[in-house]
Amino acid sequence: MSLLEVNNLTKVFGGRGKPGVRAVDQVSLRIEEGSTFGLLGESGSGKSTLARLIPRLIEPTSGEIRFEGQALHTLREREMRAMRERIQIVFQNPFSSLNPRMTVRQLIGEPLLVFGRAKGSELDRRVLDMMQLVGLPAETINRYPHEFSGGQRQRIMIARALILHPKLLILDEPTSALDVSVQAQVLNLLIDLQQRLGLTYFLITHDMSVVRYMCDQAALMYLGKIVESGSVDQVFKTPAHPYTQSLLNDIPSTDPDQRMLEHVSLESDIFSVRWSGQGCRFSPRCPAAQVGACKTDDPALVSVRAGQVAACHLLR
Ligand code: ADP
Ligand code: MG
Repeated sequence: MSLLEVNNLTKVFGGRGKPGVRAVDQVSLRIEEGSTFGLLGESGSGKSTLARLIPRLIEPTSGEIRFEGQALHTLREREMRAMRERIQIVFQNPFSSLNPRMTVRQLIGEPLLVFGRAKGSELDRRVLDMMQLVGLPAETINRYPHEFSGGQRQRIMIARALILHPKLLILDEPTSALDVSVQAQVLNLLIDLQQRLGLTYFLITHDMSVVRYMCDQAALMYLGKIVESGSVDQVFKTPAHPYTQSLLNDIPSTDPDQRMLEHVSLESDIFSVRWSGQGCRFSPRCPAAQVGACKTDDPALVSVRAGQVAACHLLR
């Protein structure tokens, strides 16, 4: 049984007369317990929306979410609240997500208070244990966020997310706001914590090298849809979708600054070429020879080899 299973999850923003943005469109995925699932995609592809849908911080338009076999999409708000102890999110920007007027003790201890799990000296003990686990010196417990570096602030965020002992940690671009040297330290901390605590990670990034380094499974998201997924080896060694192929071809692996989806040199970027809403969403940018169906039909995900799927008419 997978720890997390998402089926045909869809989120449409807006509507009511206007067309609405299909930020997440029929997304399905499975994440095995103890593994790391990497979600890659350019800015605006729907990654953060998907992250927020899983613990229902925003409500799905349609689709299913199952966690440890239990349906989350049908839970009442009160039951869902209890489930959120087990599914925590770490957001990208550790500065804007930390209340500047709270001390480290308050920031890391807050979830224990909110969920009624500890208070007083027991809370302090658990905060100190967690600080040690993420590599924050005990004597900084009464300091405020601005007194810390970017990397240390992200450690505070991680401690805050872990203090309730979740099973699943959703990491939404956890290192993209950090300097390159600090990024590696935080990623290594996450690897260490995963082994010690038996965590499962859903890791969102636009950095292909992070997925290669950290993940077991990988998926590529494009304008709200997963267009390819498989094991990290399959996706990186034998990519099937023209999008994945062009990303990998374009990237000189020796230059770390070139491994970002932000910097890919596909002829046009995601915002300058508008998809008409018909046919394959990648067709306006696709470098492959196109067939008629590319302009008329939305390609379904098809099996490429055991464990790997891609959505492209040329694979039929
Ligand atoms: P990513 O995290 O991959 O950059 P997002 O999930 O933030 O992508 O956004 C996906 C799309 O959904 C974008 O077009 C964005 O403008 C839109 N969007 C995200 N949140 C909202 C919202 N609350 N209301 C309306 N549109 C939204
Ligand atoms: Mg995002």
